[in-house]
Amino acid sequence: MSKLFISCALPYANGPCHLGHLRSTYIPADIYARYNRMNGVDTVMVCATDEHGTPIAVRAEQENISPKDITDKYHELIGNDLKSCNISLDSFRRTTDKIHYEMAQEFFKELYEKGYIYEKTIDQLYCDTCQRSLPDRYVEGTCPHCESEGARGDQCEVCGRHLDPTELVEPHCLICDGTPHVQQSEQYYFKLHEFEEPLKKWINENDKLPKNVKNFAKEWVNEGLKDWIMTRDMNWGIPVPLKDSEGKVLYVWAEAFIGYQSSANTWATEHGLDWKSYWDDKTVHFIGKDIIYHHTIFWPSMLMGRDIKLPYSVIGGGYLSLEGRKMSTSKGWVIWVKDFLDKFDSDLLRYYMVINAPLNKDTDFSWDDFQRRINNELTDNLGNYIHRTFTFTHKFFDGKIPEPGEYNEEDKEFERKIKELPDKVAECIENFEFRDGLQEIMNLTKSANKYFDVKKPWKAVKEDEASARTCLYLSNQLVHALSIILTPYLPEATQKIREVIGMPTEVVDGFTNFEDRIPNVNWKEAKEFLEAGHEIKKAKPLFKKIEDKIIEEEKEKLYALDETEEEDENMSDLISIDEFAKVDLVVGQIKEAEKIEGSKKLLRVQVDIGDEIRQVVAGIAEKYEPEDLIDRKVIVVANLQPAKLFGVESNGMLLATDSIELLTTEGNVGEHIK
Ligand SMILES: [Zn+2]
Ligand SMILES: [Zn+2]
Repeated sequence: MSKLFISCALPYANGPCHLGHLRSTYIPADIYARYNRMNGVDTVMVCATDEHGTPIAVRAEQENISPKDITDKYHELIGNDLKSCNISLDSFRRTTDKIHYEMAQEFFKELYEKGYIYEKTIDQLYCDTCQRSLPDRYVEGTCPHCESEGARGDQCEVCGRHLDPTELVEPHCLICDGTPHVQQSEQYYFKLHEFEEPLKKWINENDKLPKNVKNFAKEWVNEGLKDWIMTRDMNWGIPVPLKDSEGKVLYVWAEAFIGYQSSANTWATEHGLDWKSYWDDKTVHFIGKDIIYHHTIFWPSMLMGRDIKLPYSVIGGGYLSLEGRKMSTSKGWVIWVKDFLDKFDSDLLRYYMVINAPLNKDTDFSWDDFQRRINNELTDNLGNYIHRTFTFTHKFFDGKIPEPGEYNEEDKEFERKIKELPDKVAECIENFEFRDGLQEIMNLTKSANKYFDVKKPWKAVKEDEASARTCLYLSNQLVHALSIILTPYLPEATQKIREVIGMPTEVVDGFTNFEDRIPNVNWKEAKEFLEAGHEIKKAKPLFKKIEDKIIEEEKEKLYALDETEEEDENMSDLISIDEFAKVDLVVGQIKEAEKIEGSKKLLRVQVDIGDEIRQVVAGIAEKYEPEDLIDRKVIVVANLQPAKLFGVESNGMLLATDSIELLTTEGNVGEHIK
């Protein structure tokens, strides 16, 4: 029997799951796992919470609790989130487990012994008050690139650039607010550059890597790889397993990947199995696209350093925005999994997150679109088709699948489609094109509804009974096929269908129990037809429409959060009259204006402000031709710090609206505005 190792990106144990996590990683991984299990592949699907790293350590210090207190809480919450969405993990462990420490240390040690890890002296920030060095998230300051404040020691959120703490301008310690100084320290580095060639080969020759993943990886590896720091000076983490390295721990990305293996190891040991036999057969990593770099560059290199088999594929799911805007957990612009599943069945979420867009594309969650798809597609198309099949079977044929009559062209065509469907969907899932698979199913139920409308069994039963029998015979066959091939997508609803048609069912209840890990139903049965005479139970509609009222409530809740946020911001945005008085506004008259070479937006303008002519660079070229501006009266901010734009000095600013309408005035040139 072939084996399969599926890993899901490790959620960081610093907060619960939101819909974006499920969409990019866990739902696709679960579809793939369920499909493979149904095909007799001995599958293990693993995950763990990622519990080290500076964000958790900093938060613990700020809240005066231990990091473990934080991760205990979120390990449980995240576990519940994943369970309630029926992500059928075989093993969900933690990177604070003892076995994980051992495996991570062994990994590091072996790479070190093989000469892939070396020591290097680097500059670091050190806080005298706290008596400690300040790695990445322990420090904030001004970004050297875009000058925005509050840039973190590892990255500037405003311009997105990767940063080293020592690059920050005016850095300050996040624990004591003190000013750190630069100090030298020894750290361990991984010889990433040595793996450039084999990585190139792996990336270029692996036709199982999806395009989006491959393109990113190619670009990075072609840019050339820099060696990669593997350690940090801090207490929270896995100690570096070498002599003379007290006070150093493994950088979280030097050990988090190993969580896949340690999680599998724990599971395998408990059940007398060997996790490596799964890994060595076929391994697929499901991740969000933000960590493609880590999984196509760092991780394969680490594996090559130990001669461990490289993954079969890495599937990187796109981002999810919310109502057209980037999600933000800090601003509350987010939907938490728990809140969502308190109101809606997890199958609805699974359906929407898959059908919404191909996995490798970014997409948006919108409440209206969610309602539309659930009501029109899941309820009206799929649910309605299944329900009318059941209802008519009862009404006209005593709840038994009727004997078919002779097939006409429509029947033949319909039968062919039913028989082709399982292979089509299988091919999509095997190629990680989960949406395409679901779309195939939805397209067929759509045409099945049409077939039903054309055949009119309710009428035919009186006029051409054989035709009505054929229609219901074939329709029940499709429903049976759906109860199998929809299982990876809609694990709960399909069990309800199977219950009605009297077929073996599964218990769908969160994670996978070891005893129940072999499914009762096999994918290939989807091509088999039920016999005429097979009994169907009475059924209730499978899905219910979502009422407008419910959607309105959810939208109100979300946007209310948003308004509170804006009000808060407005409060802090208020300025005093003294502050306003500092702005020197003067009536000016434009004397000259010309385009600035190389810029579409900027004009160089000479403005008479009474006692002098000022040169101002104004971003109004898209709206105004230079010649139209001559003699126009404008309002000038006269006491703005000089700046250079496109190499041209600007001494002031012209007031204009958002839509670039210049503010004008009847006042006299040189008059100050109060
Ligand atoms: Zn920046
Ligand atoms: Zn400090």
